Amino acid sequence: MADHPSGAGTAAAADIPSLDRLLNAEALRPVLDTHGRTQVVAALRRDLDALRRRALEGTLPSRELDAEAVAARAAAALDKAAEPRLRAVHNLTGTVLHTNLGRALLPDEAVASVLRALSSPANLEFDLDTGGRGDRDDLIDDLLCELTGAEAATVVNNNAAAVLLMLNALADRREVVVSRGELVEIGGAFRIPDIMKRAGARLVEVGTTNRTHPADYETAIGPRTAMLMKVHCSNYAVTGFTKSVGVAEVAALAHARGLPATVDLGSGTLVDLTQYGLPKEDTVRETIAAGADLVTFSGDKLLGGPQAGLLVGRADLIRKIKKNPLKRALRVGKLTLAALEPVLGLYRAPEFLAQRLTTLRLLTRPQRDILPQAERLRGALAHAAGPNYVVEAVPMFSQIGSGALPADQLPSYGLAVRFAGSGRPGRHLARLETLLRGLPVPVIGRIADDALWLDLRCLEARDEAAFAAQLAEPLA
Ligand SMILES: *Cc1c(COP(=O)(O)O)cnc(C)c1O
Repeated sequence: MADHPSGAGTAAAADIPSLDRLLNAEALRPVLDTHGRTQVVAALRRDLDALRRRALEGTLPSRELDAEAVAARAAAALDKAAEPRLRAVHNLTGTVLHTNLGRALLPDEAVASVLRALSSPANLEFDLDTGGRGDRDDLIDDLLCELTGAEAATVVNNNAAAVLLMLNALADRREVVVSRGELVEIGGAFRIPDIMKRAGARLVEVGTTNRTHPADYETAIGPRTAMLMKVHCSNYAVTGFTKSVGVAEVAALAHARGLPATVDLGSGTLVDLTQYGLPKEDTVRETIAAGADLVTFSGDKLLGGPQAGLLVGRADLIRKIKKNPLKRALRVGKLTLAALEPVLGLYRAPEFLAQRLTTLRLLTRPQRDILPQAERLRGALAHAAGPNYVVEAVPMFSQIGSGALPADQLPSYGLAVRFAGSGRPGRHLARLETLLRGLPVPVIGRIADDALWLDLRCLEARDEAAFAAQLAEPLA
């Protein structure tokens, strides 16, 4: 620019170009085209304020006033601000259903269905046969009934919502009998006694932490009792001198007094997992067959679908639940239904489930498939980490996550990184962990026992090249 000395030297406040002048400068044109005038004006104002401060301090080099330099700073700031906050990461934590990393990954069929629903109108609440108004639950309730043996079904935003809705619809101002061994807290904010209170139901605790007997339920039943409820212990185990009452027995006790028995099944699998070498979990069908009148479970845990809360059971109870005003507040959107339908559809062909349902495919990946991957990637990580670290391909154990017992471990393979220098390794491992987390697709591992562990179970073949490409250059 003509009115300030470019090149070497220090600029004064009077040398700083005006906002208008900068907006008309050729160098700013591409930034304006990308980010629009509103954002560019705001970015330039911030930049000019900073320049003025430094000019008054006498620390502003003249070359920073060039329109090109101003444009480059504005572009960098605006590009950074435009980066998405919700980003894809590599989950190498070894926990397949990781709540903080978004739980289940959806199969391609579900992704395609969501894309369609995102960009075109759909018959969400429109009956294509009659041309009249439809019910969004109709899109999936027959599938859920077919897969669980239940009479009726409905769906809400997550399982916590399903439990809240069930309690409010069926036990408002009445009593719900629960074993003390099942008053669990799931992931911090979901605690059975708190949900009970918010739903307007009164909790009647029976038995003790480790032992509950049928007689405990029986003597707790009174004129205000609305239901007997069982809760899956999910993330903790009661072992040793223990006794709990099974669904069949609780249901028999409830039915003898004309009451419903309900079960919060948590993860709620639809198939017998032992056929895949995974730990035994009661299926939703088994729970219904044992006599439960209503079962709630999550959509994005073992089911492998989108975040959702599914309620299945007796038709009269589901009807009552659907009439409750909370159902409207907790209902799912079209994207959830678009994802849920194809996921449930996969369960109709159980032969292919372990290949087609992403969650099950990851959970059943054999160690022998993961081992060569660890050996392939070892060198790349060693190169990227640099000479201060030793990288080994080693066996390790993955976890199912999301309410499956931490004790249930899946033999896996991965990379263990140790600090090779002298001194305490903690700081150096933390630094490496931070660098991996700072990659364009952040790599999330875990530090334990003086090593950084990267479990490769969840790095499927199609993601491997992208993962390796990020390690082509040394990390620091
Ligand atoms: C996970 C879980 C919940 C909460 O389910 P969300 O779908 O995360 O809301 C409730 N109860 C049990 C037993 C669970 O395992």
